[in-house]
Order: sequence, then structure tokens, then C-alpha cells
Amino acid sequence: MYRSAFFLTVVTLLAASVVGFRPSSDSPSGLQPLKFRPLPLGSVKPAGWLKDQLRIQADGLSGHLDEFWPDIKDSGWIGGKAEGWERAPYWLDGLVPLAYLLDDPGLKAKVQRYMDYALTHQAEDGWLGPEKSATGKYKARDPWPVFVMLKALTQYQEATADPRVVPAITKYLKCLHGQINERPLFDWNRMRWQDGVLTAYWLYEKTGESWLLDLARKMKEQGYDWQAHFRDLPHKQKVQKWEHESHVVNNAMAIKTPAVCFRLSGSPADAEMGRRAIETLDAYHGQVSGIFSGDENFAGRMPSQGTETCAVVEYLFSLETLIQAIADPAFGDRLEQIAFNALPAPFKPDMWARQYVQQANQPVAKVSKERVYTTNGEKANLFGLETNYGCCTANMHQGWPKFASHLWMQTADGGLAAVAYAPSKLSTTVKGVPVSIEVITDYPFSNQIIIRVETGKPVVFPLHLRIPGWAKSGTLRVTGSGDVRGGGDAKKWVADTARFQILDPEWSGRNQVVLTFDMPVRAEKRYNNAVALWRGPLAFSLKIGEDWKKIAGEEPHADWEVLPTTPWNYALAIDEKRLAEAVTVETKAVAGNPFNPSETPVSIKVTGRRIPQWDVEKNAAAAPPPSPVSSAEPLETLTLIPYGAAKLRITEFPVLKVQ
Ligand SMILES: [Zn+2]
Repeated sequence: MYRSAFFLTVVTLLAASVVGFRPSSDSPSGLQPLKFRPLPLGSVKPAGWLKDQLRIQADGLSGHLDEFWPDIKDSGWIGGKAEGWERAPYWLDGLVPLAYLLDDPGLKAKVQRYMDYALTHQAEDGWLGPEKSATGKYKARDPWPVFVMLKALTQYQEATADPRVVPAITKYLKCLHGQINERPLFDWNRMRWQDGVLTAYWLYEKTGESWLLDLARKMKEQGYDWQAHFRDLPHKQKVQKWEHESHVVNNAMAIKTPAVCFRLSGSPADAEMGRRAIETLDAYHGQVSGIFSGDENFAGRMPSQGTETCAVVEYLFSLETLIQAIADPAFGDRLEQIAFNALPAPFKPDMWARQYVQQANQPVAKVSKERVYTTNGEKANLFGLETNYGCCTANMHQGWPKFASHLWMQTADGGLAAVAYAPSKLSTTVKGVPVSIEVITDYPFSNQIIIRVETGKPVVFPLHLRIPGWAKSGTLRVTGSGDVRGGGDAKKWVADTARFQILDPEWSGRNQVVLTFDMPVRAEKRYNNAVALWRGPLAFSLKIGEDWKKIAGEEPHADWEVLPTTPWNYALAIDEKRLAEAVTVETKAVAGNPFNPSETPVSIKVTGRRIPQWDVEKNAAAAPPPSPVSSAEPLETLTLIPYGAAKLRITEFPVLKVQ
């Protein structure tokens, strides 16, 4: 619970972290209303370093795959002979928000070409997309790739209001509804049914046609029971075979299932499973950056196990969905944790190459017949175009754009919520009044967030500001040209848990809210009693010298090994009770790409000694020796940089015995 150090006149403190549930009897035949409603694509636009990340990806693989990669360039989705299954829909699911958030005419034209083809080649009975993949690898009329295409189409409709989209989606879902009894869900579409249901809800909210909810219920009945799966996870150890149930991407996608089920049932027990799913995955397979291992099935907590890039972007989208139904600020904390650490990690800084899997302890990325992964191949941690398998090459694009468009949401009490923080601009209307909000910050690299709220005329509405769970103290200052009473004085807080703090003054003219989070370096206990260091939402990793060695392909989209040029096997000389004395933080303003190891705006200096017996095994770091450890090696000063910037890294360190 919240321990109040102050009470600001204009601030209503929300002690409970969850906005109250509306009883299900309010909408007996419909859907549970959302606590937080996402804004139509284009309402929240990225700025600052976040916009730069979108630009980098537009100038990298995201904006160019259709020019050279056969599975997009010659996709079955535009009548071509290459893969006609999930890859073009995956790419569009990220390209659509990328194009419209950057307002880039070239990217919009690319989107248009694929959308026009799909919308003008719908089958008589409503089927969307290729009847059968030209490669012959997949069953005919598989709903799975269409579920992905529907997510791209709904975003495209929000951005363009293209009048063809709602009828096309209606026709497709009717076709699915008509066949689902005779031809039940199977394979991937049976595991990923909840993503198809999201579009049925999207359409139901537009048309109110009850057969859509009947379809949603049937999909839930036929689909894999993720609620039972997370209630008592059947896979508590590293999994030794490939299977759907413990597949890393299936599970990352399934984290949204509690929200999907809650909207149908209204049962708090359904919603509660969202928290349970995350806790369970953390307990048995959790990795320091907030993701869980899967290479490509669950692989335990050892920090050299891999996590697939598809699972990273899908976990983000699951959290963005979960928080809409459940409004738990802890989901916002996790969203930032994964977006700021695990999301940038697998990308070459220019985003022309990606890893299939990333590792928390990753001192080398090279081809290796001997490998720590259960089913992933010898190139799984290279930075490449389609090394190991091409799904991540197609699916990686949604990460940053969807994160940007979900930074702000509308709340059930008629206000706006800051779900996550990054430089951005929001334009919307509240009670018919135009409202614009600008977030000016280098966060998470800096600890200060300036939120400028401007309204067309005076209007009262609540602004829900997420206070992260790690922000045990900080200050909040509100100033305004209008009737924002109590403005000007910085107020300090002390708190224990993540929460939403609500400001509900009459907003008038220009107002400014300044949030400052205290960010002392924190230590977290990990596998084998190892320690990871945190500052705010950023995990820090040893900066290892990187030798990028091109091994195949043509630049800019070549395949690279990354070999270490400096040692990595260090234990830290820290006393966790006196951590502040052991670390020095260096910060500067963001300039360039903050996820490029040579441009990172924040670093931590700490001392440590090498542990000679801690070596590479199977071309990965061996498990960190159990701490505390001893070493006779000389004491050295080490530089740690953000996890997402370190393309080679050690994040979970052994700790030296306190002398
Ligand atoms: Zn993948």
C-alpha cells in the first residue's frame, strides 16, 4: 500500500492499483468495457529518441524487406510464388504503425500495395489471403496467418478510415464462423486463437453484431486452454523437445489470454490470471530483462539460455492488451522493462540484422555446432537476415511502433493514462475539447519527465500517471497558466509499489507536470546467487569489445558473428548493503542512437576481478559460479552500459566475497 508523505491539493492518491471492476450485469450480452482504451493509431506519435528508433528501423530491414527478401517481395499475399503464410502479415503488422507514426509517404505506399491486393482479392465466400501457401508447406485455408493480417488491417483502418476494411473483416469472420464447427481450429491457430478473437472484439465494438461474440466463444472453446496452463504450469524445468505448449512465442502471445477471457466472462478470476501467468513464467524461466527463456521451448533461468525475438515483440503486445482490461500499473512496469532492454538487444544498431535468440550472458555470437539451446540451430545467436529461421525477420517490426502508440490510453473515468513513458506527443479530445500532451524527456536514460498538457478550453479530466514500482521516491511538480491550484512546489513522495497517481484539476491553457524519479543503482539476485545491476527501468551489462565479422550475405543485410575483444568473466566487488559506495553513474544527454554501444548516454563504473575458471561452454558463457566467489586476480574498473546497447554482454555477475 501507499505510504503518503504528502497530500497535494490537486492530487487524488489512488491507493489501490486497479481501477474498480464494472459489474458484468451492466452489459449482460456484450463485452466487459475496457478500463484503459487504446487510442486510434496516429493519436500518439513518437518524438525524441523513440522517433529516432522508428526512423532507424524504417531505414533498415523494416522499410526495405519488400525490395529484396523473397518472402515479402514475392509473397503469396500479393499473388507471388514465395511464402504465402505468416511472413507478409507479420511485416505489415509492424509496417502499418511504422508508416503512419512516421507519416512517411514511401512507407504508406508500400502498405497500400499489400492492403489493396488483399482487399481486392477476397474470395467469394469471404476467405482472405492465399488459399494455400505456394510452397505447399502449410495446410490450405489456415486461419493463423489471417489472424495476423486482421491485426494489420484494423490498424490500417484506424489510420486511414478506408471504407473497404470493415466489410472485408466482417466477411472473413463470417466465413470463419460458418466453417469452425466442421473444421475446428488446429495447429498454430489453435494455440494463438486469442489474437484472432481480438479482431472479433474490435469489429463487435463497431457493429454490435452478436454472432461475433458467439465466434469468440467458439474459438475459446476450441483453442488451447491457456488459463489452465498458467494456473499450474506443466513445464517447470527446461524442456527437452519441441512442442506447441511450451513454445516461447506461443506463451508470449498467450499472456494476453486473461484479458481476452475477462472481456467475455467479467470474472475477476480470469483477469487475475494475467498476473499469475507473468509470475509463473518468471519463477521457472524468467530472464533478467523481463522476458522468459525459450530456445525455442522453455529453457529455465540460466542466463545463457536464449529468448526468441518474436517472443519479445509478442510479450510487449500482450502487455499492451492486458493493461487495457486490467489496468494494473505493474504491467506498465514490465512493458517498459522489456521495451527498454530486451527489445533493442537483438538488433544490430542500424537494424539491418537481428538475432533469432538473445542471451542475458552473451560473451560471443558465433556459428557453433555445440550449443546450449535445445532445438535452435548453430546460427541462432548470430546477427543476420534470417539466420536460424525467418519468422523474427518478418515479425520484429511491431515492437517499437506498437509501444509508441500504446504509451497513452483513455481511461474508463473519462481521462487519460500514461501507461509507459517515452518522448511522445498525444493529440485527442476529452469531453469534446481538443487536448494535446507532449512528453519531453530522455527517459529511461534520464530521470526527469516533463509532461505539457494543453487544452483548447478549460476542461476537468483525470490524468493517471504511472509511478513505477522501482521508483521508491521522487518528486512531482504541477504548474499551470490556468486553474491548476497548488502549482509550482515540488512535492516529494515515498512509495512501495507501482501505482497510478491521479491529477484531476481543471486543465486550462498550458500546464506542465514535472515528474522526477530517484534512480539509485539497485542490485537484483539472480541465478546461482548472481547479481544484476539496475538503474530505473534499465538493466546494465558489461561492455565487451565487439569484433563484427561478416560471414555471409551482402551488406547492408549481411550475416555477422560478433567476437569479444576484451575479457568478460568478471565477478563484481560490491557489498549490496553499501551499493551506492561501489558504483559511479555517468550520464549525458541523448545524442545519436542510445542503443549503440558507442553512443550510450548512461554508464556505470564498478570494480571487479576476473574468475579464470568461469569460461565458455558450448559457445556460451557457462553458468555463473555460485556466489560469493573468491579471486586472486587484480581489481579492475569495469564499464557497464544498458543491456539493450551491449550486443555482447554479461548481465548476471558472480559477486566477490566481501573482504
Ligand atoms: Zn521468430
